[in-house]
Amino acid sequence: MVKSIGFIGTGVMGSAIIGHLLKEGYFVNVYNRTKSKAASLVENGAQWYCDPKTVADHSEIIFTMVGYPSDVEEVYFGHNGIIESDLKQKIVVDLTTSTPSLAVRIAEKVQEMGGESLDAPVSGGDIGAQKGTLTVMAGGSETAFQKALPVFNFFSSKVVLQGPSGAGQHTKMANQIMIAGTMLGMTEVLVYADKAELNLEKVLDTLSGGGAANWSLANYAPRILQDNYSPGFFVKHFIKDLKIALDEAEKMKIKLPLTLLAKDLYSQLADQGYENDGTQALIKLWWTDGKRPD
Ligand code: NAP
Repeated sequence: MVKSIGFIGTGVMGSAIIGHLLKEGYFVNVYNRTKSKAASLVENGAQWYCDPKTVADHSEIIFTMVGYPSDVEEVYFGHNGIIESDLKQKIVVDLTTSTPSLAVRIAEKVQEMGGESLDAPVSGGDIGAQKGTLTVMAGGSETAFQKALPVFNFFSSKVVLQGPSGAGQHTKMANQIMIAGTMLGMTEVLVYADKAELNLEKVLDTLSGGGAANWSLANYAPRILQDNYSPGFFVKHFIKDLKIALDEAEKMKIKLPLTLLAKDLYSQLADQGYENDGTQALIKLWWTDGKRPD
């Protein structure tokens, strides 16, 4: 059984996941670009190290959950990166939503060094991370998956091996294509129902019991009605995901018009200065600064 866990990236998702691992009594070695974001975890028993390599030196399994593929590259292949540590018989797990090709590149390098890797992006949002009910979509070998499974189970309610390296990231792209539709649908529901002078709370309650029910409607529409646009899930990260999905679709020579529309609308939102809001802020394209019209 794994005793020491490394975790790089103590943002919205990473902090919540590490909280569960600390509660289970694991030694968790942490690093984050901005040190202050790890302070409360260190107060609760996590061990701070000053770079990804040193975290990896002291850990049997190393998780990463940073922002963008470029951040993943830096923590693995950059100066004092994970790859500079001796990874023999260790497992690295990238929970970041990143590209399938980078997952394959990491897997090949780590395997060459005598270790194993999994790409394991998650779904379920900040709430799922806090509750420990995330869904994990993994790519990699069955042996690496079985070794990591007990740890995944401390912060997830569904964990599935999808196939070889890269399959986890492809599954996450499938997830984000669905979310593109539900976020656009949820936003248009509110804009329409408001214009029709309906009681929005009553509409949401009614729709939640029928065929229109979905996760975005249940979790993000209430935040809009409370004027709460904090992330959650950052607009800038959703744009990153939609671009990855569209790039992969182009490679496979398929068109995804809805995903393209979502990318364009979210890019407009970012251009208006809302890239650090949560994804529910899409309604700001209709409602000035997200305020329900009088
Ligand atoms: P976040 O709050 O921005 O967390 C990312 C963390 O990674 C930040 O603390 C950041 O440090 C750190 N980081 C970035 N580059 C680094 C580097 N080179 N070295 C060390 N640390 C680095 O974002 P998040 O919401 O937790 O999301 C993380 C990933 O999960 C993203 O890929 C996102 O798309 C995905 N995801 C998010 C959700 C969600 O609902 N939030 C759900 C599923 C998947 P700084 O503090 O210096 O920026």
